[in-house]
Amino acid sequence: MQKILVTGGAGFLGSHLCERLLRDGHDVLCVDNFYTGGKQNIAHLLGNPYFELMRHDVTFPLYVEVDRIYNLACPASPIHYQFDPVQTTKTSVHGAINMLGLAKRLKARILQASTSEVYGDPEIHPQTEDYWGRVNPVGIRACYDEGKRCAETLFFDYYRQHNLDIKVVRIFNTYGPRMHPNDGRVVSNFIVQALRGEDITIYGDGQQTRSFCYVDDMIEGFVRMMDTERGFTGPINVGNPCEFTMLQLAEEVLKQVGGRSKLAFKALPADDPKQRQPDIAMARDKLGWEPTVQLEDGLRETIAYFKRTLMVAA
Ligand code: NAD
Ligand code: UDP
Ligand code: UDP
Repeated sequence: MQKILVTGGAGFLGSHLCERLLRDGHDVLCVDNFYTGGKQNIAHLLGNPYFELMRHDVTFPLYVEVDRIYNLACPASPIHYQFDPVQTTKTSVHGAINMLGLAKRLKARILQASTSEVYGDPEIHPQTEDYWGRVNPVGIRACYDEGKRCAETLFFDYYRQHNLDIKVVRIFNTYGPRMHPNDGRVVSNFIVQALRGEDITIYGDGQQTRSFCYVDDMIEGFVRMMDTERGFTGPINVGNPCEFTMLQLAEEVLKQVGGRSKLAFKALPADDPKQRQPDIAMARDKLGWEPTVQLEDGLRETIAYFKRTLMVAA
């Protein structure tokens, strides 16, 4: 049994990770400032004697005793990270410095939740880990993209300078139960709109692509990466290589939900990447990992979740 810190543990991915680590027999410390996450995501874990919740903002120093750290704290959806962009950069950069300082003092292994956004609007397709990316440093997505890029730099400098035991995963679009209904990300938007019979908002012509990974597959990737031998740092892509256009995604959601929603075309946000698909050869090779959940099946679970939560809210 290890004592494991999960920052951002009350969020979408963090809450699934806390659950998984408890199931694996670990002692979990969840740290979150509830900026985008919520107690409802982890309420069912509060009675577990091996689970502890701490309200804390990672931009401030944190003194706790743990064996391992998963650093997930950061708003992830464009509407949330653009709401207070300075705080977003601080969370990525100051948060990384504090968690790396903590890991250094404790000699603890630390995993960073990085993102496919480090590739920006990519010129190569699919994206491999050695691609350096194409990010607009002054655009509206930069607080997130550059914050995450700088966090990666910090991780690798602590590795080179202080010999820290680091792991960096680059997460591609992930979906599943506990996404926030007002999160603004495409999967939750489409499902919520379809369930409410509202128009499905397609940004641009809907021909841009994303590759969607179901949350359980993603968490399995995190845990496998955390357990690799010391010195294997990544960065490593974790995501589902099955690529869909936003129109195809809308079609699949409508097929499953039924109802009377129509498509409504809206302006494409600035700097919106046109295509994104992970090359997961490294994950297959080093982690023996690949996604197992098809979009159709993952959407069914996610739609069922939103049906339950929207009914409670109504
Ligand atoms: P989320 O918004 O649901 O979770 C983020 C959590 O971090 C929330 O609980 C939030 O309250 C917390 N948080 C934010 N700022 C904080 C701060 N300063 N101090 C403490 N806690 C703070 O998002 P998610 O989808 O679960 O994303 C988790 C991580 O994975 C993020 O780092 C994100 O960048 C990364 N990621 C997610 C995706 C995805 O598709 N879901 C893709 C790429 C990367
Ligand atoms: N830090 C922390 N918890 C710890 C140790 C360090 O939050 O247990 C923070 C500390 O506030 C510092 C940062 O991590 O600002 C970086 O720590 P490091 O030891 O690398 O640098 P220094 O303390 O020399 O600035
Ligand atoms: N998108 C859309 N309708 C929505 C929300 C998003 O068409 O209601 C598009 C968005 O423009 C982008 C894609 O879906 O091209 C994925 O957006 P999301 O915010 O989920 O993730 P990211 O752009 O960060 O990959």
